[in-house]
Amino acid sequence: MPSGNVIRGARVGSTPQRPAERSVPAPRRAVAYWCRNDHRIEILIAAEAEAPPVWDCPHCGQPAGPDAQNPPGRVRTEPYKSHLAYVKERRTPEQGEAILAEALAALRQRRGGA
Ligand SMILES: [Zn+2]
Repeated sequence: MPSGNVIRGARVGSTPQRPAERSVPAPRRAVAYWCRNDHRIEILIAAEAEAPPVWDCPHCGQPAGPDAQNPPGRVRTEPYKSHLAYVKERRTPEQGEAILAEALAALRQRRGGA
């Protein structure tokens, strides 16, 4: 059975830990993100790197985006739209008046028993 170090060339404690020579930290910039729970996250990325569009919020795990007013995953700002709201999107008030007048005329005609 051969004796000696199994791991050749590994000498414990022989070389001191190299100081961080020539490892000047790369320039970095801060990028802020907001999640839909109004958490603000600031991360540091390399100055020349493009900021990722989404970052996971470390507080709640929700995706966070760079736009504070419009974080990703937010439920629509318009929570509920009534049927009337949809109709108003499709028709102008003038069209609405015309349709109403038409409907009233038809109703009056029916009521009048023509
Ligand atoms: Zn969050």
